[in-house]
Amino acid sequence: MKIAFFDAKPYDRPSFDAFAAERDMTIKYYETKLNEDTAGLAAGADAVCVFVNDTVNAAVIDRLAELSVKVILLRCAGFNNVDIRHAKEKKIPVLRVPAYSPYAVAEHTMALLLTSIRRIHKAFLRTRDYNFSLSGLTGFDLHGRTVGVIGTGRIGRAFINICRGFGMNVLCYDKFPAPDLDNGDTIRYVTLDELFAQSDIISLHCPLTEETYHIIDEVSLAKCKRRVVILNTSRGALVDAEALLAAIKDRHVGAACLDVYEEESDVFFEDNSGHILDDDTLARLISMPNVIVTSHQAFLTEEALSNIADTTTANLAEYLKNGTCANEVSI
Ligand code: NAD
Repeated sequence: MKIAFFDAKPYDRPSFDAFAAERDMTIKYYETKLNEDTAGLAAGADAVCVFVNDTVNAAVIDRLAELSVKVILLRCAGFNNVDIRHAKEKKIPVLRVPAYSPYAVAEHTMALLLTSIRRIHKAFLRTRDYNFSLSGLTGFDLHGRTVGVIGTGRIGRAFINICRGFGMNVLCYDKFPAPDLDNGDTIRYVTLDELFAQSDIISLHCPLTEETYHIIDEVSLAKCKRRVVILNTSRGALVDAEALLAAIKDRHVGAACLDVYEEESDVFFEDNSGHILDDDTLARLISMPNVIVTSHQAFLTEEALSNIADTTTANLAEYLKNGTCANEVSI
């Protein structure tokens, strides 16, 4: 079984090579992303393996069908970059990795929050320059603060557990609330408007859908507490970046930590140092002292990489054996 692996990075290979060998699969790695221009590279492959910023639209799926590609393997949980309906019409199953390490993303979210509010990113640079001044580094305690968590699935829950360890109160919003999570006291489901009004910190852990697109925008930001901290480790387009920037400039938003960005596919995962950044909104956000940007790094732990490679190759093996796979994306 041959896999054409797009958007390959050096950190992908060791775990994929190991699991592919175990399951008698061969992988051809391409550094380029999958899109209409590169789909031809899948000629001769039985499956393509793609990540979050590959383009798997109708035109790409048509081309893959022409090339007799039988399976689309997503080595990620989200599938907003795939035209699932069209893949279904073309009878190409889309298999994903629903969970690989919710802890990786949840822990990165807390790392960003602590870095931001305790000014670690500033202190790190200062002490490297033997500047031991504390001026401007005052933070605030998380203990007793209220965090609003939008999306209480695997990652949301892992993040809630971490927040509870810090003695924070948790307000949750989910389209499908989990009854066992709400303890009527320190963890409570509320309406989205209540969450916006009462949270000191808001963390996004829901998928990107038509409903959640720009869930953080000018209107919702206006409902938030002054000095609110916005955390987004889910998907970039959950946040209207222009509106966020405006609210930061107004001093309404106290800080923002972004592991994802709406237009990230043009810049994230690549070394753009030495280049002039065309995206003025991203450049302005990065220039802010109270904004931290990481480039879709939250998943990147040894455990997650191993689980991703294991599940991706197991998905293909299961599909080949049974003609079905429990991790097929359905609509
Ligand atoms: P999950 O499916 O376990 O949980 C998602 C939760 O969102 C569910 O409880 C669901 O009911 C809820 N939800 C669905 N629609 C909603 C809506 N309209 N409003 C509010 N909540 C809604 O998924 P997960 O494993 O917890 O992952 C969450 C998201 O994290 C993924 O969709 C993905 O976008 C993102 N993610 C990011 C990284 C990263 O590296 N930054 C890695 C993995 C996943």
